[in-house]
Amino acid sequence: MAAFPEGKSEERKHKNNPNGSGASQGQWGRAWEVDWFSLASVLFLLTFSPLIVYYFIMSCDQYHCSLTDPITDVLMGNSHLSDIWNKTPSLSWKAANIYLFWVTFQVMLYILVPDFCHKFLPGYVGGVQEGALTPAGTVNKYEINGLQAWIITHALWFANAYYFHWFSPTIIFDNWIPLLWCANILGYTASTFAMIKSYFFPSNPNDCKFTGNLFYDYMMGIEFNPRIGKWFDFKLFFNGRPGIVAWTLINLSYAAKQQELYGQVTNSMILVNVLQGIYVLDFFWNEAWYLKTIDICHDHFGWYLGWGDCVWLPYLYTLQGLYLVYHPVQLSTANAVGILLLGLVGYYIFRMTNHQKDLFRRTDGNCKIWGKKPEYIECSYTSVDGTKYYSKLMISGFWGVARHFNYTGDLMGSLAYCLTCGFGHILPYFYIIYMTILLTHRCIRDEHRCSSKYSKDWKRYTTAVPYRLIPGVF
Ligand code: NDP
Repeated sequence: MAAFPEGKSEERKHKNNPNGSGASQGQWGRAWEVDWFSLASVLFLLTFSPLIVYYFIMSCDQYHCSLTDPITDVLMGNSHLSDIWNKTPSLSWKAANIYLFWVTFQVMLYILVPDFCHKFLPGYVGGVQEGALTPAGTVNKYEINGLQAWIITHALWFANAYYFHWFSPTIIFDNWIPLLWCANILGYTASTFAMIKSYFFPSNPNDCKFTGNLFYDYMMGIEFNPRIGKWFDFKLFFNGRPGIVAWTLINLSYAAKQQELYGQVTNSMILVNVLQGIYVLDFFWNEAWYLKTIDICHDHFGWYLGWGDCVWLPYLYTLQGLYLVYHPVQLSTANAVGILLLGLVGYYIFRMTNHQKDLFRRTDGNCKIWGKKPEYIECSYTSVDGTKYYSKLMISGFWGVARHFNYTGDLMGSLAYCLTCGFGHILPYFYIIYMTILLTHRCIRDEHRCSSKYSKDWKRYTTAVPYRLIPGVF
């Protein structure tokens, strides 16, 4: 179904506008003004996020991954907060050296080794790529070499584990809490540096947003694309490496620890490694495409991204593997196959939905979705300078099933990771709870933006595709 908005005869400035760029940019990213609710949320997150990460990791270290035992222990007077803190491993030179080496190595892979993967991997988009148009009208260039960094890092990891034996493959697990302090130091340093930089030497002064509220600016970032030199882009580096490259290494370290402790690696641990490995590899395979997603093309670089990528992601996205070190779960074949299928179907939906939109927008609708020419709703929106733009919202394929079916697939995959851990504790289910909140919030945030951007055309779209995530439910 193709419908046309009023004013069709007006000049088509942007027939296809994949990033919602240019005109609508003012509605993206973080706010210009801070309301009390945003400020309260920022203060809450700044205070409690580091404590949440500490609490989860400490619970595994001292209470076998029980989230309730530390509280009951303290409330019953069996333990004091100081006892828990005193039992927590502190920062060590060993961890500091490992972390310094790790980050330096990733920086070198990022800035010194131009991508060669795109030269021999058919279909892979790497090398120098353009990002989205920024609010100030700049199009940044990025060196997309994350897949290569991932391959080199993992090749070296396996070479060490099976041949060189420079260090134990359990090294990450064995230093997990001391490394937490190092990750925090980097997260806070990067965010603080980015804030100072935005005042004194911003990469693009026109792409800075100041609200006047220090906490909000620190958390949500001021500069849109802070860079050092021409190529070191904070958002691309911290978003992908060191956090996401580390994700699969962390899981491998957990598997090695299971092998060391129990003489075998359980099928649940293999499932976590495989399913999350697919997700990570997908991220790097599509790194150029991620330049056009909300994280890269709409968020400013502050503590939310800097600390989040260094600490929150590697520590909380890997809780299933950590849990399985303390509670090795051997799944029945039927359960293992069921979880594998859930994870693979979730991944398929996630990837295909994203692919369908990408193809649709790239070809301006001149493509086939599920074997047919896609149906769409034609939309218009007006920029602040009064220029009228046109875009299309597809209602075929997965985009006709629900308005954010890519998120649904993501959530199915997330649930599969958690189910590998059985039902002994709530801790490994943190991921699905968190992702549900994150993606539901993102749905609402995105729809709010789309609704103000497309106004009555968005209404026509939501009438044609009434559900957000699960048809008939939400
Ligand atoms: P989407 O890729 O879903 O993009 C949303 C935008 O697409 C809208 O703002 C609109 O932009 C456009 N759009 C909406 N509906 C349609 C339609 N029917 N046809 C064509 N275009 C449409 O959002 P994200 O960037 O949030 O997510 C990208 C992926 O990243 C998702 O798969 C998500 O699951 C994943 N993700 C993972 C996270 C993690 O931590 N693991 C965190 C966040 C995301 P326009 O203005 O151009 O019309």
